[in-house]
Order: sequence, then C-alpha cells, then structure tokens
Amino acid sequence: MKKLVIALDGPSGSGKSTVAKILSDKYDILYLDTGAMYRATALKALKLDIDTLDEKGVATFIDNIDLEIKYINKTQHTFLDGEDVSLKIREPHVSMAASNISSLKCVRLKMVEMQRKIAGDTACVLDGRDIGSYVLPNAPYKFYITASSTVRANRRVKELIERGFDVEFDKILAEIEQRDYNDKNRDFSPLVCPKDAVIVDTSDMTIEQVIETISSEIEKK
Ligand code: C5P
Repeated sequence: MKKLVIALDGPSGSGKSTVAKILSDKYDILYLDTGAMYRATALKALKLDIDTLDEKGVATFIDNIDLEIKYINKTQHTFLDGEDVSLKIREPHVSMAASNISSLKCVRLKMVEMQRKIAGDTACVLDGRDIGSYVLPNAPYKFYITASSTVRANRRVKELIERGFDVEFDKILAEIEQRDYNDKNRDFSPLVCPKDAVIVDTSDMTIEQVIETISSEIEKK
C-alpha cells in the first residue's frame, strides 16, 4: 500500500466529513476538514462587516488572518483570533458566506498554502472541493463523494434539526443547489471530479457501505 494520502472531494452535504472522520480513525491518520477554514474566513469577514464577495475588502485581512487548526483529543478545532469557533462556523448563515468567500482567489491561495503546511508529508485525509485537483494533486488515493441534491438536503435538514436549528427543506435544498453552482462555476480552482478519482455516489448507500467501498479501493492499490 502507498503512503496514505487520501483526497475526498465532492459537493456540499455528500457525507465527506463523516467518511473522512471514520477513515482517519480506521487508519490512524490526520484528518483536515478544509471547509472549516473557509467557514472561519467567512466568519472573520462577517465580524469585520466586510462583504464576502468584496475581494478588495477581504484582501485587507486575509494575509494576516489569525486562523489556527488544533487537534484536541484527535478532533479538529478551528480557532479564529484565539477563539474556538468550531461550533459557530456551523451556523447556517456561515455556510452561504463561506461559499461566497471561497470563490475569491486571494482566499483560496492563502487557504491552500495553509492546508499544504498542515498536511505536510504526513499520512492524512483531507476533504474539500479541490483537494485531488489542486491542493494535493499527487495524492495516491482520490475519491469524489456525491449524492443527489434531494438526499443531501434531507441529510442536512436532519443534522440541523438535531443541532436545534429551525429549518425548512425547500430553503436548504435551494441553498445546497446554489452552493453547488458557486463551487462548480468559480474561475479559480472550481469543484471538479479529478480524472483519477473513484466516484462514490452515496445516495442509496449506508455509511458502512461507503467505507467498505473506499477501504477496498485503498487496500487493493
Ligand atoms: O465543506 P463545507 O460545506 O464545510 O465548506 C464550506 C464552503 O467552503 C463550501 O460551500 C465551499 O464553497 C468551500 N470550500 C471550498 N474548497 C474546499 C472546502 C470548502 O471552496 N476545499
């Protein structure tokens, strides 16, 4: 087996982070949720009252952003300006702000530089939108995790309700489709399925089946 560097890409709500966490435990490798970094950057813009699509405004803080990823009991925590914002960045309004800010080239360049530093040359699993295509193009194991937008919206509604948010299915579905559109159509480093990735459509699969599919691909290489 080659050194475990696993790139998981795919649209919002396809289950990448659940899969990544399980793989990280199973193979005892570092897990980096790159979406959390875009979310924290969006939170910073919201705090400063800077429009998340205003590249000039965002450029004023991005190079000096105080964003840190720490692992506490093997779980990723995201710190912004010294504060643990791991929960705050999951709030629904931050999702769309993150989708917007992630289209800015200055943001992506900064995040990718940080992600490559964190991943270093250790065994790891990264999930995101551009991991196999841009962040770690030489990763030996690449997967594109997807599911229909209805299935993804249903999962997201369930997750948000469990966390105490009051949400409507139609609104969440529209938001997911808008985020897909943004991710696939931005100019710089859009969401694509890397040519050498294995596509896993999780619409009708249990999480156990997804892990089984991915693990057997990894172990046969
Ligand atoms: O994965 P998650 O939904 O937490 O990501 C938040 C937003 O960050 C996404 O909507 C996506 O636009 C952006 N993102 C990205 N590239 C990544 C990870 C996330 O553009 N590698």
